[in-house]
Order: sequence, then structure tokens, then C-alpha cells
Amino acid sequence: MPELPEVQTIVNGLTKKIIGKQILFLKEFRRNTVINHTEINSPNFGKIVSILRRGKYIVFVTSNGFKIVIHLRMTGKLIYVVTETELPAHTRAVFGFSDGSELVFDDTRAFGKVEIYKEEETVRALENLGIEPLSENFNENYLKNMFVGRKSPIKNLLLNQSIVAGLGNIYVCEILYRAEINPQVSGKNLLPQQIRKIVKQTKIVLKEAILHNGTTISDFRNIEDKTGEFQNFLRVYQKKECPKGHQIRKIKQTGRSTYFCPKCQRIDSQQSAVSKSAISNQQSAVSNQQSAVGNQQSEISSRQSEVSSRRVGVSSGQPVKE
Ligand SMILES: [Zn+2]
Repeated sequence: MPELPEVQTIVNGLTKKIIGKQILFLKEFRRNTVINHTEINSPNFGKIVSILRRGKYIVFVTSNGFKIVIHLRMTGKLIYVVTETELPAHTRAVFGFSDGSELVFDDTRAFGKVEIYKEEETVRALENLGIEPLSENFNENYLKNMFVGRKSPIKNLLLNQSIVAGLGNIYVCEILYRAEINPQVSGKNLLPQQIRKIVKQTKIVLKEAILHNGTTISDFRNIEDKTGEFQNFLRVYQKKECPKGHQIRKIKQTGRSTYFCPKCQRIDSQQSAVSKSAISNQQSAVSNQQSAVGNQQSEISSRQSEVSSRRVGVSSGQPVKE
């Protein structure tokens, strides 16, 4: 499944090729691939003004006030063709431009969608996305707040698109390896320095992957039907050994394969560190409560002494026992 770096690679490619091009037609080759959310049956899109990425979504903004939202899902590909060629076997939709070039939406498993909205319409799927991991807003404080009270393993939390938009299985495995964090640790048990490492490594891994045009494990292709190269730089995903020569373990987490190094990403040292700090926090909380109780008691006794001294009309600094 294309993740943020692959989708960004596609957006970068499209930006070079189709910005400013007039869309002549959008033909659907398989029912339910193109979904028209506007009331216009055959919208006149005009030219492509800009192309954006949000999470794993691609958005074309057109000059006649439309937004075309594309989600590639599992196996979707966008292939740009200049000359008349035979359409790929799993062509689901084709954009035709006024210069004769075409953008083919090919999708073996047919989960991908092309959705048409008016520019001012809200796109629910995009509204529900969490923040972009390469933005400044993705920082230690943000993640710390998101992880408060979350029992789910960190692996699942990073895959949750409403927390961070654009991460998938491959990159989460790589990020956690580089941050030396066991994928099974609960979000709420992470130490501040671990959250800081996750933020840092997320940005590093994603930027490196974009630089190498994404990862091709099975069928990711850029718009010129070429593979990415980041698969050559993966450290744990589908590997037998980590770069330090330790054996990689493969487990299932919510149905998806997690690859990690039990030696580089230890759970015991972290958890003992976590539990120690948790215990000392509890102890200090208890002693705070005790001192609070002590304060209350001394406050009560000083009030009592005030009352009793008023009663007897004698000024006395000492608490009076009853
Ligand atoms: Zn290792």
C-alpha cells in the first residue's frame, strides 16, 4: 500500500507533468471507481491548478472550482502516458488532457477511488485526518497529548490516521527500529525521551524515503511506471537480520506483520524504566497527599486555637487540644 513517501513521489511527478493542463474528459472503466459528490453529471473541470497531498490522499484543484480526490488504497497506480498506448489490464479510469496525453488510474484490487467535489465542499475523509508528520505541528507535545491514557501498542497508534496522517506498516516498523522502541509498548508508557525519538526518526525516515522516490515492495510505481529505491535502505521490514546482525522477529499486530529487533528494541529495560518512574511518581504523589493532609490538619488546629482563644478571650499561639 502506498504510504506518505510514495504518494508524495506521485504528487511530485504529477506536478511536473500535468499542472496547467486542460482536462478534456474523465472516463470510468469500472463502476464505482469515480464517485461524483456534486450534483453535476459531467463536470467541466477546466485546468489543473494545483496538486496537493494530504495523508495518503492526492487532491487536484481545478480552475472551474472542483476538487478531485484520489485514494490509491492497496494497489492503485497513476500512470502518465503521452503517446497512444494500450491501456494497462486493470485500468479503472482515465483522465484525458487537451494535448492528447492521458493519466491512467490502474488498480488491480480495485479498492482505489477517484472522488469529485466542488471546491468549497468539505471532504469528510480529509477532515478526519490527523496532522502531517512533516509539519512543525508534529512534535513531542502533540504526540504526548495524543498518547495520554492510550493502552494501544505504539505501532497501532502510529498507524492510526486520525493521530498521524500518512504512515503505514513499512515506515512505522522502520521508525520504531531507528527510535529503538519496541512496537508492543503501550503509548501511555512511553517516556518523554522516547516520544522525542519517534518524532525525530519519523521525519528523518520519511524525508529519506521521499528522496529515494518511495519504497517498492510489490507494485508501487511512480507516474512513469518506475519503481522507488527506498527498499534498498530498509533496516527491519521483511528483513532477516537488523544492521547489527541480530535476528529480526516477525509478529502480527491487528492483522498486520510487524518486523522488529528484540535486541535493539528491548521491551524489558524500557518497561522497568517506565515502571520505576511510575512508582516514584506514585510515591511522590502519596507524600504530596500526606503533606496536604498535614497542612489541612495544621490549618484546622490553628483555626481551633483561634476559636478557643476567642472563646476564652486569651491570645494563645498554641493549638488547643479538646
Ligand atoms: Zn538489532
